Amino acid sequence: MDLRFTEEENAFRDEVRSFFRTEIPAEIRRKVSEGRRLSREDYVISQRILNARDWAVPHWPLEWGGQPWTPIQRYIFTEELLQAAVPLPLQFNCYMVGPVIAAFGSEEQKKRFLPRIANLDDWWCQGFSEPGAGSDLASLKTRALREGDFYVVDGQKTWTTLGQYADWIFCLVRTDPTVKKQAGISFLLIDMKTPGITVRPIITIDGRHEVNEIFFDNVRVPIENLVGEENKGWDYAKFLLANERTGIARIGLSKERIARIKRLAKEVPVGTGTLWDNRDFRARVASVEIELKALEITQMRVVATQSKTGSSKPDPASSILKIKGSELQQTTTELLLEAAGPYALLTGDQIGAGPNEPPGGFDWVDAAAPTYFNNRKVTIYGGSNEIQRNVIARAILGL
Ligand SMILES: Cc1cc2nc3c(=O)[nH]c(=O)nc-3n(C[C@H](O)[C@H](O)[C@H](O)COP(=O)(O)OP(=O)(O)OC[C@H]3O[C@@H](n4cnc5c(N)ncnc54)[C@H](O)[C@@H]3O)c2cc1C
Repeated sequence: MDLRFTEEENAFRDEVRSFFRTEIPAEIRRKVSEGRRLSREDYVISQRILNARDWAVPHWPLEWGGQPWTPIQRYIFTEELLQAAVPLPLQFNCYMVGPVIAAFGSEEQKKRFLPRIANLDDWWCQGFSEPGAGSDLASLKTRALREGDFYVVDGQKTWTTLGQYADWIFCLVRTDPTVKKQAGISFLLIDMKTPGITVRPIITIDGRHEVNEIFFDNVRVPIENLVGEENKGWDYAKFLLANERTGIARIGLSKERIARIKRLAKEVPVGTGTLWDNRDFRARVASVEIELKALEITQMRVVATQSKTGSSKPDPASSILKIKGSELQQTTTELLLEAAGPYALLTGDQIGAGPNEPPGGFDWVDAAAPTYFNNRKVTIYGGSNEIQRNVIARAILGL
């Protein structure tokens, strides 16, 4: 199997690389690179620039804004985007609800929602998990009872990422409690302005507000907001989760972080030299780079197989990519924290400007500890790594 890019693929890489680095505002890319919080506006600006170039949803069907790219081009696009520290187009819009509506929604739903999803005119969040229904998602209890032309929704969702910004939420709800649990679930689109919805923040270990609990109390949802058929929501959810795992290894992101760590370590003073003089630190950086290279080759193998067979079905090997990719993301945040050293304990205000200013400025050291803590999540969401091991055991090892 030849894993080298062709001349055309190299030209494509140069084209997207140059676009990302010249068209997306440097301040937004700097925030991503330093692990600082992006505002809602940052996401919107960045996604609209991509959408104006027809690159916000290249994996969608052509008629709804997709591109006729090969799996290898898609891979190059995402990796270059991550390495340029461009925010990924909003996952909930572009990789979750958009593809579900494009595949299973009515024509009216497609026309009404898809262009706004691609342009981030509407911000969507994902209402799947509930207290007691995470890994065992099919046990969800949020109820939707049909009353005339409405569903009346009651229940609770949790861990809803960036729900505080959302205009809409896509939810899995129980429409038939009398059948096998997977067979009684439906996929509903709910306007967040509907009376009866309460959003309550959850502050995570990094001190930030990223996730929420969302409560539904007698929320009336028009029946035209049902996607596909009633009680077929589990099929659509499986389709969505397969999309969610695509590209979840985030190799480009880890590569960008490692390159930054190397640059910074050569400036961070330790004793009479710099952190880069420390052989143990260098060996750990090298070990992560080797593992990243191996992961990249695994990812290329998966992409090359997809290219050859033309299959768009999720490859169980993506579970390997999820496990290894998320572990490496965590390791890079540990190395970054180490590079920040004692600076990571203090905020810029506490240190004060002057001789104590760390190399590279205060922004990255301020973000180092929150980024480290925040990245503990990556082995949990998108299907926890333990669940991915179960998938590998079943689908690859045949256990
Ligand atoms: C930061 C963050 C953001 C999230 N954002 C969203 C969001 O926007 N929308 C949304 O719907 N959900 C979201 N989630 C929820 C996420 O999908 C769930 O946390 C995840 O599916 C795990 O479910 P749980 O938290 O209920 O843990 P549980 O399922 O209770 O699992 C607890 C532990 O037991 C292990 N475990 C469970 N079952 C098995 C098994 N069969 N075999 C082996 N080990 C097992 C798990 O791996 C885990 O370590 C988010 C989660 C986090 C942490």
